Amino acid sequence: NPACKIEVPERLVVSYGALVENGLADRCVSIPVREATDADILLVHSEEYLEAVKKTPYMTLEELKEFTLQYGDVYFHPNIYHCAKLALGATLQLVDNVMTGKVRNGLALVRPPGHHSMRSAASGFCIFNNVAIAAQYVKQKYGVKRVLIVDWDIHHGQGVQYSFEDDPSVLYFSWHRYEHQKFWPNLRESDFDVVGKEKGAGSTINVPWNKVKNHRNAVHIHTNIHILDLVLVCAGFDSAIGDPEGEMCATPDIFAHLTHLLMNLAGGKLCAVLEGGYNLKSLAQSVCQTVHSLLGDPAPRPANLEGPCNSALESLQCVRSAHRKYWSCLKHAGITST
Ligand SMILES: [Zn+2]
Repeated sequence: NPACKIEVPERLVVSYGALVENGLADRCVSIPVREATDADILLVHSEEYLEAVKKTPYMTLEELKEFTLQYGDVYFHPNIYHCAKLALGATLQLVDNVMTGKVRNGLALVRPPGHHSMRSAASGFCIFNNVAIAAQYVKQKYGVKRVLIVDWDIHHGQGVQYSFEDDPSVLYFSWHRYEHQKFWPNLRESDFDVVGKEKGAGSTINVPWNKVKNHRNAVHIHTNIHILDLVLVCAGFDSAIGDPEGEMCATPDIFAHLTHLLMNLAGGKLCAVLEGGYNLKSLAQSVCQTVHSLLGDPAPRPANLEGPCNSALESLQCVRSAHRKYWSCLKHAGITST
């Protein structure tokens, strides 16, 4: 599928290379990777789906193509089952090390990404839902009662949302390019008025952006201050400048600020997991900015801090209205421009 040609191994090579070049890799603790087990994968995915993915390393090219066609914007390479198990295992290793206090926080540089994959379906380059599984895993293993997931990837992580829509113990916050459903994954469920179901009502927060290219850095900071508190990050960097997917114009230093804000909210316990980011240059820079903040370095002054555009303010206003009955802090909140 030509849509998949941007999800390349070089994404990790340049990201890690930039960390080394900037002296950041030396300041980090490297955590050994493990393969995820079936039990890990089954925390979110169905047995049928896992069994089907397990067969992919033995399929012929024709069989792989046919298998791939049942899903959207994803490909299966003979190695992908192995890689997806390592991506998930790395994520869980990070979570374990943060939960046990061996490290304060961290970034899992992994691929394939995870936030689009669903219980019984691969989607959007994603095979297993690394972050959704990590949330279930910490709940089960550590008895954590309240997990916050922030998805700053430019795409809506529908797989994460579906996993927790009726679960009040996991708050899912996503902002994403939406354009009134014209942007992939083109789902009605990605809009602001989809807030979770049953007991989970109010614990899904979607901030859809309906205009591209005019989202300045201020929008990002503005959103966070008003709505979030947190733990796991679906760290996609496809909202950064130059990305072929996002077509937004956040400069990489904004990720230093976002990370900074989230570190304040979660008592410092923060696990970021790589999702998207397809412009190799801005991806590498964004990864470095994130790691700078995780290491406690002061964030640079944001370059492009003008007020949010009207379309963004409108989206935020809609989100607030939709959530007013669930969040007492929003009851009297007005809308202000920075
Ligand atoms: Zn993305």
